[in-house]
Amino acid sequence: MVEYLGVNAYIVHGKPLHPGSEFTPGHVLHGFRVDEIREVPEISLTAVRLEHLRTGAQYLHVARDDANNVFSVGFNTAPKDSSGVSHILEHTALCGSERYPVRDPFFKMLNRSMSTFMNAWTAHDYTQYPFATQNGQDYANLRDVYLDAVFRPLLRDLDFYQEGWRIERENARDPTSPWTFKGVVYNEMKGAFSDTESLFATRSQQALYPGCTYSYVSGGDPTHIPELTYEGLVNFHRRHYHPSNARFFSYGNLPLGPQLEAINAKIDSYERADTPTVPLLSQLSAAGPATRVTETGPVDAATPADRQVKQSVSFLTHPTTEIFPCFAMGFLSKLLLSGADAPLYQALIDTNMGAEYSANTGFNPYTYQSSFSVGLQGVRAADAAGPLEERITQVLDKVAQEGFSTPRIEALIHQIEMGHKHRTADFGMSLMQSISTGWFHGSNPIDLMEIDNRVARLRNELQDGQFFQSLVTKHLLENPRKLVYTMEPDADFQASWNRGESERLAAVVASLTPAQEANIQKRGETLLAAQDAEQDLGCLPTLTLADIPTQNTSSTENLKHTQITPKQFPVQWNLAPTNGISYLKTIATLPHPATDLPADWQSFVPLLCSALTTCGTTRRTMAELTQDIRMYTGGVSFNYHLSPSLRDPTNNYELGFSVGGHCLDANLPRMYDLIREITDQTDFHKVDRLQTLIVGQASGLWNSIAESGHSFARMLAASTLLPTSQLNETYNGFDQLQFLNRLTAKSDLTEVSQRLEQLRDLFLDKTQMRVAITASPSSEKANQTALEAFMAHQSASAGGLNSDNGGTSSFTPSYSQRYFPMPFASNFSAQSFYTVPFSHPDSPALQLLSKLMTTHFLHREIREKNGAYGGGAGLGSQNGLFSFFSYRDPNPFKSVETFRRACEWAEQREFTDREMTEAKLSLFSGIDSPLSVFEEGMSLFTYGITDELRQQRRDHFLSLTSRDVQRVAKQYLVPSASKTSSVIIGEKLGDSTPVGWEIQSLEATNLS
Ligand SMILES: [Zn+2]
Repeated sequence: MVEYLGVNAYIVHGKPLHPGSEFTPGHVLHGFRVDEIREVPEISLTAVRLEHLRTGAQYLHVARDDANNVFSVGFNTAPKDSSGVSHILEHTALCGSERYPVRDPFFKMLNRSMSTFMNAWTAHDYTQYPFATQNGQDYANLRDVYLDAVFRPLLRDLDFYQEGWRIERENARDPTSPWTFKGVVYNEMKGAFSDTESLFATRSQQALYPGCTYSYVSGGDPTHIPELTYEGLVNFHRRHYHPSNARFFSYGNLPLGPQLEAINAKIDSYERADTPTVPLLSQLSAAGPATRVTETGPVDAATPADRQVKQSVSFLTHPTTEIFPCFAMGFLSKLLLSGADAPLYQALIDTNMGAEYSANTGFNPYTYQSSFSVGLQGVRAADAAGPLEERITQVLDKVAQEGFSTPRIEALIHQIEMGHKHRTADFGMSLMQSISTGWFHGSNPIDLMEIDNRVARLRNELQDGQFFQSLVTKHLLENPRKLVYTMEPDADFQASWNRGESERLAAVVASLTPAQEANIQKRGETLLAAQDAEQDLGCLPTLTLADIPTQNTSSTENLKHTQITPKQFPVQWNLAPTNGISYLKTIATLPHPATDLPADWQSFVPLLCSALTTCGTTRRTMAELTQDIRMYTGGVSFNYHLSPSLRDPTNNYELGFSVGGHCLDANLPRMYDLIREITDQTDFHKVDRLQTLIVGQASGLWNSIAESGHSFARMLAASTLLPTSQLNETYNGFDQLQFLNRLTAKSDLTEVSQRLEQLRDLFLDKTQMRVAITASPSSEKANQTALEAFMAHQSASAGGLNSDNGGTSSFTPSYSQRYFPMPFASNFSAQSFYTVPFSHPDSPALQLLSKLMTTHFLHREIREKNGAYGGGAGLGSQNGLFSFFSYRDPNPFKSVETFRRACEWAEQREFTDREMTEAKLSLFSGIDSPLSVFEEGMSLFTYGITDELRQQRRDHFLSLTSRDVQRVAKQYLVPSASKTSSVIIGEKLGDSTPVGWEIQSLEATNLS
């Protein structure tokens, strides 16, 4: 059970529903008929399934003693083409509705609500609009806005052009500037398609599902998006966003009756309609040998020139409505693929046939007809010509003969059971996501929640000893519905796509009459004007300042602090109901981080952490260890710990090594033994394992750039400003990528092994250690005993938080504008400067200011005007860095210029009380977001943030006025102009590098 500590003003009134009260099957209430009530005791909930009699709308309510309530409305939206109509509709539905005719009510509500989650997404065949909040009034407000958005959107043509696609002059006001395609979804999908992993996953799926909806791209293929018309969008809405095609979901401790009443009021005027249908079953040929499809994709600059092929083998399996068979296939998929002890991992990754699994690898239950795929990226052309497929078949043959060992199967069952007991604070949202696909495909959603049933049946089936063997034979080896999909590199891929885009553009432009051109010009100007117009948000519901509790919503009062022999290691205890699980975290810090760790050792820190769960020990292979980790724990982890000083992040910080783990109370001694074996006896000289790890890390890091370029840009921009930011870049950014690439080129890894060993010894011996335990009160003694035995062997000394006496670093900040050209069609920008430390009284005002700037200036300028998918400002409260960023941005240089204008704007702008309240609400929905039991007390333990510091900050936030915010804008923003660091990661530039930008080539260093 999730429990929230301390006073929580947000627990809404109303008891969870119990069967036998006002609800019984057949009972009709507010137009809904109760079809089923079922308790699911394994996750402490009661589920109620209802149908709206007039329209046929489906409703699922999950009553559970949890204040973090969830609501969602969704529709089947399986597409019949790749125009992205369902995705564009998801966007345009949020451009204003009858009752709330304001642009982007979601973004606006972020500031009038204390939601813990608000979003919308388009899956392959359905669209969903979910939110979560702990406040009952907020819940009603948001539900109203959501329902109005989906059932009564304005869907103006201008919304379609803004969110979908349009052609327009680059500068809409300048009739001499060149024509271009614009539109939020158009650019979003261009970005998605420039990510080679996502391109591979999309194209291979299209090939696997010919003749049905999954052969189309529901998000929209940029080549086909311009085929969608405004009328097409409106028709799609009329047909799909209808109650007869809707599924409503609610979760938490709010009573059901009033919710049914509110929804009935919204949908009771509709007539029942036919639900749209499209083919859901693949027509992949079942006759003859496997189907083979080969296509081309971009060259992967991070991968050697002779390893550019991506290939996968896929099999079509059961419809997702067959719950147990799909569960069994998912289980089989994990046995085959995941972890060092998995046969396909050993045969494909350990042998270095490819750098990583292909993006589609695994069991895929997100399409009506499920599939299993396995493949590799970074493959040699010769291996793709047969050997890869043969090797996969060999592994499957062997499994069909021998099956899996009982301990491996038991270990995986233990993982499922642990996953069940380990409760996160977003339980309701995760539950909803775990059942959505099956529910939309027609399964009874309550069946989908009952995992214990499936595990019991699995145990039963396993009795005959041949269960997985026959699954492999029947559904993989002898399955005729098999696809071998290959993507070969084409150096001209992006350029040729760009040429195609220009031709499509030219064709549209050529067909324009002068009158149409004039209309486009006028429309562009109208759009710009609409974006500039101030909006009256008075129609939107809102919470008030009084809804924000004046006191911290969680406290560390109940924590207990003891010391443990022999060296008096400090231990923080959180004794609370944990469902029988004990959680451990240790932090071992270097007393003088700036000087204790030689600079050229720094790059090895992340590699050390991952090597610990890759190499295996001198006693056992990683495969053997993995089995024990899964059998006896819910996971163990090894990470570096890096924390800037709350008082002076420009000089001081804490650097060290952190261990985490959780297990059932009964397995405590086992977990500690495993941790000790891994930290003390890992054998870094297993160079094959190390080689595989390095190649995989490099490729993983490279592949994440196209998706998360804004994070890389922020890391790079910050890296020249603070010592911890520099280390962050060294550990996670381009620095780390280049370091890994240098290592992949090494033929002899002996030195690397030695360095890792030295680094490990340093972290074990020269550090000061502190411990945190979260456990049920009844297992305190067991934890104490296990911990004492564990700590008796530690060579580190005892120590508390030392981020403020870490010695002075020799770091000197520097300021520059750097451009990193990359081989993909997407840009990201970031700009940072240092302001004040966490403990400074101006820090809260700066944080609030960053919110205000995002809402009232940057969102409009960066997203709506510059056409970027996202952008904003934020204060890293702990390190005091004020940062701007833009995401998937067609005009990154313009955005950097916008950041400067944002500072000038902020200096002048006076904020109304309403705007101040909104910024505070949005801020506090983050500050007061619910914590799971194992997260409680962790900001104290990890960063030293005390209740007093939090309360001080809270008081500051609550008392801030517009004048305070303006003062800090004047004092910190504009004067910092000369001390900023800016970075753009983006497309290769032609000859047009703006003055003052330094071009840094990552690729060149990369490939050398
Ligand atoms: Zn989108």
